[in-house]
Amino acid sequence: MNGPAHILRTAWRALLQHAGNVARSSGREAIGWLLGFYVGGEPYVLDAHPATRYKHQSRYGAIADPMEEAEIVMRYPRNVGIVGLYHSHPFKDDTRHAIFHSATDDATLTSRASRRENFVSVVTDGRSAECFVLRDGFPAPVTPAIVETLSMAGHLKRYTTSVAPSFSLKVSEANAAGVVAALEKKVSADLDRAVRSASVGRGTVELDGLGAGAIRNRLVIQRDDDAHRVELSLRLDPTVFVAGSDEDEVLLATRNEILDDVLFLLWRGFDASAVDLAGVERFEANLGSLSVHETTPLPKKVYRAPKRATVLRRRA
Ligand SMILES: [Zn+2]
Repeated sequence: MNGPAHILRTAWRALLQHAGNVARSSGREAIGWLLGFYVGGEPYVLDAHPATRYKHQSRYGAIADPMEEAEIVMRYPRNVGIVGLYHSHPFKDDTRHAIFHSATDDATLTSRASRRENFVSVVTDGRSAECFVLRDGFPAPVTPAIVETLSMAGHLKRYTTSVAPSFSLKVSEANAAGVVAALEKKVSADLDRAVRSASVGRGTVELDGLGAGAIRNRLVIQRDDDAHRVELSLRLDPTVFVAGSDEDEVLLATRNEILDDVLFLLWRGFDASAVDLAGVERFEANLGSLSVHETTPLPKKVYRAPKRATVLRRRA
């Protein structure tokens, strides 16, 4: 990363305002996420999302509910989403230098930066703020380039694809968690095969062998002698956003996005921890659907729940 952290002014203003409001109303620390993408390792921040659920929140420290972060991650397509964290030190009146990176802040940044280089950490006192990224194991201040306009379209290219595959397998044990694990393995293998002969066009990706004509997302588990037959049919139109036009990168993003979608739909539509398949003759789960909405400043994934979720028939 040679350049600065690029931050849209509206996002910068939003985080300052959030931290300032929380400090004024409760005197406590505020946390939030920085949303955007990376281009050539440089972070672009287009939006700020304040944490709404805390595990702990005081004047000298706060921990956000990790579930909220997981939900945010799932709301964005590949290569878009959380690029940093911000938090406040609401003790401007006690000290002249409230903006610094504490040992706790260092530990948080170190763990994040191990997963994503140039993960941004912003510390604010509610009035001004500073940006840090990890350099050689230490937090280094970086200059935020606050810009008036910043759009995703100017930096990332959009690629769409359409697939309608069916996956079929047999499991000997009627165990719901085992079904999900077996499906994940099967879907991954089929995706890897499809990607090998895929082609990337202008804004589109063609994946061979993943178009069996399914019209909706559905999971059916049926008894078949001593085993269970599992059929997963999907109708997906994933969209990914990639910097540059490297084919391998586009294909990898598409592959991973499809797998993300499959796992998300299974998680939402088929709660493996709640479904007991013992004695079940036929189980059918409508999994709902996912689509990418091109909202500003960032696109979002929207999940639509099915009208009728599951139908289960046990042995008489
Ligand atoms: Zn701190």
